[in-house]
Amino acid sequence: MNIIIFGPPGAGKGTQAENLVKDYNLFKVSTGDLLREEINKETKLGIQIKSSISRGFFVADDIINTLIENIISDSANQNRMLFDGYPRNFNQVKKLDLLLNKYNQKIFSVINLNTDRDTVVKRLLGRIVCLKCGSTFNKFFKPPSKSGHKCESKHLITRSDDNEKTIIKRFITYEEKTLPILNYYKKQNLLTNIDGMNKIDEIYKEIRQIMP
Ligand SMILES: [Zn+2]
Repeated sequence: MNIIIFGPPGAGKGTQAENLVKDYNLFKVSTGDLLREEINKETKLGIQIKSSISRGFFVADDIINTLIENIISDSANQNRMLFDGYPRNFNQVKKLDLLLNKYNQKIFSVINLNTDRDTVVKRLLGRIVCLKCGSTFNKFFKPPSKSGHKCESKHLITRSDDNEKTIIKRFITYEEKTLPILNYYKKQNLLTNIDGMNKIDEIYKEIRQIMP
């Protein structure tokens, strides 16, 4: 089955996607990964991508669509694709429909991790990482002091790229872009909203319920 997963930054989408990939043998289709892979392999497309990124441009939809078609046309991926971070705009939605049709593929379900602004801010602002052992914590939800963490506190760092203004701006942009896409899938009865403010394993339990 092919799945699309949506959620704002900080909704824990990456973790849930990983769970699904592992438990249902899905193939994660992330445009970020595809672009990086193309750049690393130094393909003709990869060189083009690298040049737009280095000049500060967005990667054109045409390039994204070509990469996505490469994935969908490959029978090894068919009926097991988990789209993560794609489609990102309405052009991509339409293109995805065309490609799915062309290769006789269907979307089984569209999962939306519904998360409010405050939760996202707290999750991202509260992030703490231990540089010694790699454990992650959260100042609000999972403080290292209460998690039985043994390393000295000097190893703990907060992520400096997550300041509140940036987080809120990213959240608003995400909502504006994603709402019309969610409505589109809702009209086709494909959308399932999942409470992204729950604990991670509770969220995953809910996701499992919609899987066959
Ligand atoms: Zn540690």
